[in-house]
Formats: sequence, C-alpha cells, structure tokens
Amino acid sequence: MFEIAHKVHDESRQGEAFTPAMTTDDKQFNRRFYIESYGCSMNFSDSEIVASILFNEGFSATRHLHEADLILVNTCSIREKAEQTVRKRLTEFRKLKHQKPSLLIGVLGCMAERLKSKFLEEEKLVDLVVGPDAYRSLPGLIVDADDGQKGINVLLSREETYADISPVRLNSNGITAFVSIMRGCNNMCSFCVVPFTRGRERSRDPESIIKECSDLFNAGYREVTLLGQNVDSYYYNQAAATAPSVPQRGKVHTQPSLSGNTLMDNDTPKSGESALDNPPPEADRGAGFITFAMLLEMVAQISPQLRIRFSTSHPKDITDEVLFTMAKYNNICKYIHLPLQSGSNRILQLMNRSYTREWYISKVDRIREIMPGCGISADIIAGFCTETEEDHQETLRVMEYSKYDMSYMFFYSERPGTLAHRRYKDDIPEEIKKRRLQEIVDLQNKLSQQSNKEDLGKIFTVLIEGDSKKSNKDWMGRTSQNKVIVFPKSIHSLVPGSYVEVRVNHCTQATLLGEIV
Ligand code: SAM
Ligand code: SF4
Repeated sequence: MFEIAHKVHDESRQGEAFTPAMTTDDKQFNRRFYIESYGCSMNFSDSEIVASILFNEGFSATRHLHEADLILVNTCSIREKAEQTVRKRLTEFRKLKHQKPSLLIGVLGCMAERLKSKFLEEEKLVDLVVGPDAYRSLPGLIVDADDGQKGINVLLSREETYADISPVRLNSNGITAFVSIMRGCNNMCSFCVVPFTRGRERSRDPESIIKECSDLFNAGYREVTLLGQNVDSYYYNQAAATAPSVPQRGKVHTQPSLSGNTLMDNDTPKSGESALDNPPPEADRGAGFITFAMLLEMVAQISPQLRIRFSTSHPKDITDEVLFTMAKYNNICKYIHLPLQSGSNRILQLMNRSYTREWYISKVDRIREIMPGCGISADIIAGFCTETEEDHQETLRVMEYSKYDMSYMFFYSERPGTLAHRRYKDDIPEEIKKRRLQEIVDLQNKLSQQSNKEDLGKIFTVLIEGDSKKSNKDWMGRTSQNKVIVFPKSIHSLVPGSYVEVRVNHCTQATLLGEIV
C-alpha cells in the first residue's frame, strides 16, 4: 500500500457508487444509471453534475449494477495505477452487457479525455466516451448510442464551469459538500497530466458559487469545500463576463494532444505559465475583479455557522491576502493543503513547480505567523526523474521543518505526453522509489503522531458529521484543522451539523479521541 488515503483523494471512496438523496419531486423516471467515481474530489463533484444532467433526462440513480440501463465510470489518469483499476473494472461489465444488450456503458473524465477515440477502439464494450467539459452533451450521445452509434465528445472548453447546473448531492452526509469554483489548470508541472485532461483554467461566476453555498446552508449543510486545482489563482473578471464582445466566450476547442511530440494548440499553457503571471493591477480590484481572497470573504459572510474549507493551494500563488482573510473569519477553517512535491530545488525545477524550497518554507512560516495552530498538509512525490539520495533527504528535511499534520504521498508514475515524459528519463528503479516513499510515509506517521499528541488536553470546536465508523454510541466530527475526532454522545440534543466543544483526551496516529466539555 503505497498511496495514502485522504479527504481530497480518498482511497476508501475510489470506485464508490452513488445514490442520490430521496426526492419528493413527482418526476417520472423511466431508466436507471449507475455511476462509479475514481480520483480526486473534483471527479466526485463532477459526478454530481452528471447526475443532475441525467436526472433531468428521466434517469434515476441506482447503487445496483444489475438494475442499470446506463453504467458510467468517471475516471482518473493521474497515475498509471488509477487507469489500470478502471480497465480492470470495465472487464467486469462485459458479462452484464451480454445479459442485457441494450445496456450502455460510458467512460467519463480524465481517462476519456486522455485516450479519446482510442478508448472506443481498445475497449469494444464502451458506447460513450465523454471528457470533463462535455457532460452537457451526454443526453444527445445517449440517444445516438441507443440507436447503435457509439458516441464521443472530448472537446475542452475555455468557458464551461457548469455554473448553472445545480449538482444532485450523492452519498451525502447532509453536512459537508464540495463546491467547484474553477476548472482546469494553467500550470505545467512536468509530471502532471491534468492540464491536458482538464484543459485551461477558468473561474466560475462568484454569484453562482455564493448561491450554491447559500442553498446548501439553507438545506442544512454546515461545511463547504471550495474546489479547484489551484484555488489561489481563482480570478473572475465580471466586466469581461458581461461584455458582449468577449472574444473567447462560447469558443470550444480541443486541448493539446498528448499523443504527439509537439503540443498543437496555440492556447497551450507555456512552461511555468500561470494565470497570475500577468496579474491585474491592484487598482482593478473592486472594479469587477474577484480574487480568491475576496471570494473566500463572500462565502464566509453567508453565515458564521457555515464552515469553509478549500483545496488545493499552490505555494507559488498563495497570498497574504488569503491568509489574513482566513485569520479574520472564525468560520474559515484553519487548515491549508500546501503541496510540496519535493524538498530539493533541483527536482522542483525539473518538476516546473516555479518555487524553491526556501520560498516554500517561507510560506509555511508565514502561515504559522498569521495563524498560529493552522493545520498544514502536503502532497509529496518520491522518485521523480534523476532524484538522488541527497534530493530525497532534502524532502525529508522540509517535512521535518514543516511538521505536516498529514501528507498525501505517491511514488512518481510517468504519464504519457507530459513534459517529464518527453524531456526526462524515468530512471529511478521501482524498488528505490518504493523504499523512498516508505521512508516518507514513516516520517509522516511520526509527524502525525506528534501533531496529535500536541493536541492532548486542548479544547476544539467540532462540527459533528455523523456516527463514528466503529460505534453509533460515538460521534465523529472534524476540528477546524481538519483532524477527525471521535467522542461519546453524552448530550442528547446534538445532531449531525451541531457544533460542540470537545476536549482531546487520547489520540492515535490518525484520530483524536475526546469528550464534550
Ligand atoms: N493541483 C494540485 C497541486 O498542484 O498540488 C494537485 C493536483 S493532483 C490531482 C494531486 C497530486 O497528485 C499532486 O499534487 C501530485 O503530488 C500527485 N501527482 C500528480 N501527477 C503525478 C504523477 N505523475 N506521479 C505521481 N504523483 C502524481
Ligand atoms: Fe497538476 Fe501542477 Fe496543475 Fe496541480 S498545479 S493540477 S500538479 S499541473
């Protein structure tokens, strides 16, 4: 087991099948869909958009494969293992298709985008291949597939944010929800396939974000996680969005191809380019420009009872403005996911991360200066191209310095078509990658244990999410710092969604144990 579970890429949720909450709507459903999701929170959030589109087309969801008229797999391409899991899963659907020839099978998400029509050639049982920006075309593609015509739409858009689609919450605890605030990524980290599978970065209209968060709050939700690949570069130009002459509006284009050696599209992000490479002048702010700090403040003002989290921050882009906004509002959770990837400047440069270890450390210092006690977690990759033992030791040293509460740890998996694939040799033998990863995991376990021990005796405000996994006599909730805490149900009036003060009495490496004070 070399990949570690977490809330953003939760291993325990991989392949999860969804059922929407019961509806009182008298809508007639004539067919059923089954959807399974893999990968990051963005994919799970996209499945809720897909469910909403299908719901409007008369499809209801089922958790049972044998009841389905349409099986969808929302896929991830980030590492080779994620793709292998999906391929294996598809073979399991073959028998169902034999039993029910009218059954349609569709592949959605990053793998659909990466492989495009190759998927239809390689996986004969697949009827639909739909990329992350083309979900609105699903109903039409389903009609064609019913007529025996295989359907594909992998067009990427510069505009699509699904802002007007109200997601159908799936497998929800009714308390916490993901809200997508932007799509795509303009960074070109050399190891990463995301800019190719999810296209150019675009920010969602803030009004629709506030409306979605307010609706969630009014429906009883008490925590929203604002999602984006790089939330710090959220940037919405209201003036441009309303002007009739915005040149790119509605333009749909295909993304640079991963299959060839050259990137074909003029819109291709340049190496290291980001939306903030050309930031707007300060004077423009307040003149129709909304930054991430401004958006955070707007969401925080919906209600002090609504907690706000966000993911993911990029060390090169996170600003003091964001940190001060976090510090100003109690309901913005004191937790930042700040991916490190590597602690070696040489490797960071090869990764095209646009920061140095010194820059990264200064961000950690700044977070702790502005918000003492703020939780910090990281993503770390072991065994990137040319990584030496000394590079690896530098990563361990930055981990020790940063004292992460937790980390999401991976060994490098070469992805076809990425900059690293084209420029560098994947030259670290697998056993060395795995040994280094294990050392990273061991150190993180030690740091997590230390971090939890430091919480002993402290009192935290906890949002109750539901019963603990082990016993319905205990509640499970989270602290502002995103730590899971379990405690006995000693007060009967409490329900999921209640806030309660809990003192930490014991801890394991992964969980705090406490009692209500
Ligand atoms: N946008 C976020 C960022 O920049 O940190 C993360 C996006 S990615 C979905 C999540 C994590 O997967 C990355 O931070 C990185 O650690 C890991 N990852 C991405 N590509 C990888 C690869 N080729 N091999 C191993 N891990 C990879
Ligand atoms: Fe991938 Fe880098 Fe974009 Fe994150 S910031 S999605 S790692 S390219």
